[in-house]
Amino acid sequence: MTPFPGSGLAKGLAVTLRTMTKKTVTEQYPDTQPDLPPRTRGVIGLFEENCTVCMLCARECPDWCIYIDSHKETVPAAVPGGRERSRNVLDRFAIDFSLCMYCGICIEVCPFDALFWSPEFEYAETDIHELTHERDKLREWMWTVPAPPALDPGAEEPKEIAAARKTAEKLAATQAAAEATETAEAAQAAEVTEAAEGTGVAQTAPEPADPGHVESASPTDPPEGQS
Ligand code: SF4
Ligand code: SF4
Repeated sequence: MTPFPGSGLAKGLAVTLRTMTKKTVTEQYPDTQPDLPPRTRGVIGLFEENCTVCMLCARECPDWCIYIDSHKETVPAAVPGGRERSRNVLDRFAIDFSLCMYCGICIEVCPFDALFWSPEFEYAETDIHELTHERDKLREWMWTVPAPPALDPGAEEPKEIAAARKTAEKLAATQAAAEATETAEAAQAAEVTEAAEGTGVAQTAPEPADPGHVESASPTDPPEGQS
């Protein structure tokens, strides 16, 4: 259907009128902080304990703005006769935010949950070179990452949490058993002391032998070599 001549102009004027009569809202930043959604993509935080230096994020970044340096370290065998292992140790992890386009690919591809979106946005610099942020800064931003949303009721417990919970329960059970054994031993010792005091037997330690003392043989003992 052909639009009515001048309908476009009428629509445009209607939008202008609507906008003109609306109350304008001006954010008073930096005097007041903006009310941002908690999952705002502000900057990337690094949880370096989870980083295995697999280089996946650096390889997948379309802007090549992630810089990672590492070295290899030999880990001794866990059991005698076992094999030594080698592991990567992170030396440098930096992101150049003057190149980053906030696509989030690095966060998506990280297989070890080492990168997260932080809502922090106040990191403007006057020199473009200072927009390359190193691991210490990325780690600091990690602590501004909001906690993950709660699981749905009835959802399966995540593997990492289940493993940590089982280890904690095992540790608590071992500690409780050790404490129970200690209490039982102390009670037994107290009972023995009470019984000894009741019968009047003195609990004295044997005196150390005199180093110069030679035990004399009984006159009835046969001489050596004779039976
Ligand atoms: S958000 Fe995108 S551009 Fe920025 S570092 Fe990650 S992968 Fe690279
Ligand atoms: S993908 Fe994750 S684990 Fe691998 S180097 Fe990047 S941050 Fe580290």
